[in-house]
Amino acid sequence: MTVLPGRVLVVGSVNADVTVRAPRIPTPGETVLGEEAHVSPGGKGANQAVAAALAGATVSLCGGVGQDTFRDPALAGLKRAGVGLTHLHTLDAPIGLALITVAAGGENAITVASGANARVTPAHLPADLTGFTHLLLQGELPLEVTRDAARRARAAGLTVLHNAAPARAPDPDLLAHTHHLIVNEHELAAFGGGEAAPEAQASALLARGPRAVTVTLGARGSLTVTPDATYHLPAFPVTPVDTTGAGDTFCGVLTAWLAAGQPLPEALGAAGVAAALACTRPGAQDAMPDRGAIAAALA
Ligand code: ATP
Repeated sequence: MTVLPGRVLVVGSVNADVTVRAPRIPTPGETVLGEEAHVSPGGKGANQAVAAALAGATVSLCGGVGQDTFRDPALAGLKRAGVGLTHLHTLDAPIGLALITVAAGGENAITVASGANARVTPAHLPADLTGFTHLLLQGELPLEVTRDAARRARAAGLTVLHNAAPARAPDPDLLAHTHHLIVNEHELAAFGGGEAAPEAQASALLARGPRAVTVTLGARGSLTVTPDATYHLPAFPVTPVDTTGAGDTFCGVLTAWLAAGQPLPEALGAAGVAAALACTRPGAQDAMPDRGAIAAALA
């Protein structure tokens, strides 16, 4: 596979995903009987690292894992995709676990046991960021780690992309050090924009640090605002089987294309196509398209 220029550092979570397909997502207090459990690699950090690497970027992942039985399945996808693991630390805690229910219609509900991800500290960040061009962050590591990574990366001249997932109130310092913020509609709501339309809420966030804000809209595609332009991208039409990892695929591929020097509209287009393709197969990393599949769908 041809390697794109640019080097991406992902600072984020590594989990093993335990997935059960069920007729529907249980409501509070309800038990729903599903099929057998399936263990696969996950964690937003690992997923996004894999998506970026499969898209052709040179990627390193910084984070924390445990030594338990879920370690090998958790690392399988990273190793297959060629993600650099020299900044992945083995810590004295069980590896993170995500318990995922996938409903018949493809929607999902996820509970995460953070495990080793919660033990990562700023001391685990690479001391030297030389060579990296882009940093990709999510919200599954301790906030101080994510914040410190953004601060150091920005000082070292990297472009900082931040997928503020899962949803929580924004950290002003982290926002101020983010170049490109990526949120879905739930996460956008947590930023406190009230009843305003997503475009107005995203535009308002530009005043708080980012120079681009992308809102992913599921089957309705994505919306990106910058100080100069607004991009509405419809979703690439597919029949979804499982949307787990669609957002992670979007973030990883967007970063890979930007790191390769592609203009923002092209990078957003590739991210949308890749995320749609990821919806057509079950799983997160297992469903992600490689560079060839993305190029074929874009042709
Ligand atoms: P998830 O948590 O399921 O990984 P998310 O909630 O973070 O995803 P979404 O907005 O649901 O993010 O999806 C991310 C992107 O994936 C969308 O912007 C879109 O490009 C693509 N996508 C998601 N669902 C579909 C779909 N049904 N058909 C085509 N593309 C889709």
